[in-house]
Amino acid sequence: MKALVYNGPGQIDLTDIDEPTPAPGEVLLAVDAAGVCGTDRHIVAGELGVAPGTVPGHEIAGTIVDIGPGVQGWEPGARVASFGQVSCGVCLACRSGQPNRCRRPAVLGMARQGGFAEKVALPTSCLIALPDSISDSVGAIASDAIATPYHALTTIGGLRPGETVVIIGAGGLGLHAVQLARLCGATRVVAVDPVAGARDAALAVGADAVLDPASEDVPAKALRRLARGASLVLECVGRAETVELGLAALAPGGRLVVVGVGAARPQLPPLAMFIGSELSVLGSFGSTPAEIETVIALIAAGRLDVSLSVQREVPLSEAAPIFTKPFGTARTVLIPDEEDAQ
Ligand SMILES: [Zn+2]
Ligand SMILES: [Zn+2]
Repeated sequence: MKALVYNGPGQIDLTDIDEPTPAPGEVLLAVDAAGVCGTDRHIVAGELGVAPGTVPGHEIAGTIVDIGPGVQGWEPGARVASFGQVSCGVCLACRSGQPNRCRRPAVLGMARQGGFAEKVALPTSCLIALPDSISDSVGAIASDAIATPYHALTTIGGLRPGETVVIIGAGGLGLHAVQLARLCGATRVVAVDPVAGARDAALAVGADAVLDPASEDVPAKALRRLARGASLVLECVGRAETVELGLAALAPGGRLVVVGVGAARPQLPPLAMFIGSELSVLGSFGSTPAEIETVIALIAAGRLDVSLSVQREVPLSEAAPIFTKPFGTARTVLIPDEEDAQ
C-alpha cells in the first residue's frame, strides 16, 4: 500500500510498504481522511524524536475492511473516527476513564503507524462510530481539532453558562473553541489572532469581538477592554507571550487553560496578584473517546458549524511537499487518491 513515511528531519516520502495485519482486538481501516495537525509538522521537522520509518497521522476517519481475532461489536463496512492514541488500558488514568493521561500511551503516527496511508490497523478501544451525515474529513478532525477544545473548555476549564471567554489563537482548535464556548452558554466570546483571515473566521462562527494583538501597543490592555474581565481564557498557541497575555486578561477568580504545546516557560504575575486574585493556570491535553463521541453527536445534531473547519483536501500521493512548507493556519486533510476512491 502507499503511505507517507517519515525518513528523518525534513524528509517525508510517498513509499510502498506492507499492508498492516490487524492483531487480536484490532480492526483494519481503509483510511478515508486523515487530518494534518501542527504536531505532524513538528514530527517531520525532526523535533519530536519520532523513529524514521514511522507513518504520521493521528486524526483518522476510515471504513473497517477487516477485523482481527477476538473483535466483537464491529463489522466490515462500518465508518469510524479514531481516538489519537492507543492507551494501555490498565494504568490508574485509563481505569479512571482518562486515557488521555495514560502513562504508557502509543500515539498514532509517533509510537505506532498512523493514518497517512491507505490503510491502518487500530484497536477497537480507539474507535468511535461515525454517522453517515458527517463527512470523512470532518470526522477525521473531530477527534483532535474539535474534541481537544471541548475537553479544555468543559472538563478542564469547567465552563458554565454566563461566563466571558477569551480564545487565544483562532486556528484549527480556536475556531471550534469559539463555537463550543457559545454552545456551553458563554455570554461573551473574544478571539485573539494576528491573522486577519483567522479573525474573520472567528467572527463568522460567532465570536462577539476579535483582537489583532500585533496592532496594539499593549495587547493585554486592549484585551481587558474587549473582554470586560474574562473568567475563562483558552490558550491554543503554546508561546510564553500568549500565555502571559491570557493571564493578564483574567478577572479575579479566572482560569487560564493552556492547550498550546511548546517548550516556552511563561512568567506568572507577581504572587501577591496571582494569589490575591485567586487565578488558576491549567494544562489540558487532548480528549477522551467519550468526549469525541460527544462532539460527533453535537456535529450530527447540527449544533456546530463545520463549514469552515476543513480548508483543503489533498490526495495522499500529492501531500509530501506540504509538510515542509511554512506553517499556516489552514486545516488540511489528506484523502485517498482518485483511482483508489470507491
Ligand atoms: Zn493533532
Ligand atoms: Zn494507561
